[in-house]
Amino acid sequence: MNLLGGTAKRQFDLVVIGTGSAATTAANQCRAAGWSVAVVDCRPFGGTCALRGCDPKKVLVGAAALIDWVRRMDGKGMRGDNARVEWPELMRFKRTFTDPVPEEREKSFAKAGVDSFHGVGRFTSPSQLQVGEEIMESRRFLIAAGAKPQKLNIPGEQYMTTSEQFLELDSGASITGDSPIATRLAV
Ligand SMILES: Cc1cc2nc3c(=O)[nH]c(=O)nc-3n(C[C@H](O)[C@H](O)[C@H](O)COP(=O)(O)OP(=O)(O)OC[C@H]3O[C@@H](n4cnc5c(N)ncnc54)[C@H](O)[C@@H]3O)c2cc1C
Repeated sequence: MNLLGGTAKRQFDLVVIGTGSAATTAANQCRAAGWSVAVVDCRPFGGTCALRGCDPKKVLVGAAALIDWVRRMDGKGMRGDNARVEWPELMRFKRTFTDPVPEEREKSFAKAGVDSFHGVGRFTSPSQLQVGEEIMESRRFLIAAGAKPQKLNIPGEQYMTTSEQFLELDSGASITGDSPIATRLAV
């Protein structure tokens, strides 16, 4: 709100919806070219890859690959009798990579001169996006809002977990689907 009780309005050359890999690259490059830039995210800053995708997955896949190697070398100059995954400890290790991301991403935007907004972005006109009480007016918008899991409409779907839920599980799970992500989580 401004002093007269109206909605605050800010002007930018570019407003980016999202703070994942796509949004971050575009926002930083346009800012470096001298544009005034804002980013908006309704979830913790960092997007899928850093928080719920590639990076946490690589920690788990790396641990599984290590166990596999140890078992395959058992009896060939290696003893792997005790090699096993300690899931809660592994999840804590995974969070050492993911937990710092939102704050670091926002600090890095601030350092680059990119303005940060938290909340759901909604267009109110072709040149205006509203986030909470703030209206952003911009020459250009980039929708880098990522993707959501598709509903499968199969019996028993309510018992399934998404890859995001899988990466926060307390114990193991079985995997349905043969996408690259499903395959890498399964092996
Ligand atoms: C488990 C898993 C493993 C993966 N592994 C790999 C890999 O190894 N290698 C690889 O290349 N890719 C991998 N991917 C794919 C990769 O993570 C995605 O392709 C990439 O993160 C997409 O980035 P993005 O910037 O387009 O969107 P995202 O990173 O998803 O960011 C979109 C952001 O927009 C925000 N948002 C959405 N709507 C709004 C709104 N209305 N208002 C405000 N904010 C909004 C969301 O909160 C989100 O933070 C993996 C994905 C998953 C799920």
